This record gives sequence, C-alpha cells and structure tokens, in this order.
Amino acid sequence: MANANTDTKEHADQNIILTTEHRVACDGGGTHPITYYDLGKWGQATCHYCGQKFASHH
Ligand SMILES: [Zn+2]
Repeated sequence: MANANTDTKEHADQNIILTTEHRVACDGGGTHPITYYDLGKWGQATCHYCGQKFASHH
C-alpha cells in the first residue's frame, strides 16, 4: 500500500489547450454544438459542455 495511484489529478491539469487567440471554439470533438469562448477577460475558459480548458498563451 506504499504507492497510491495519483494519475487522475495530473491528467486533468495537462488537458489544457493553449492559444494565442482571444476567442476559441470548442465542439468537443463533435460531441456538442460549436461554442465560442472569450479569453480576453480572464485569460482562460472552460467549456460548459465537455469541460475542455483553454488558456491564452502570449
Ligand atoms: Zn467543448
């Protein structure tokens, strides 16, 4: 019991899409309608449908 599986937490942090655009589009790989998110205010956004995270990258 010395080694616990902690892969789940790291996996979530690595699943962020970096973009230089101020606005991103997400369709969840075709699983939901295309939705646009504005990164201008917070510098990051999370898709309300599939939970995909986006962050601005300068
Ligand atoms: Zn999405």
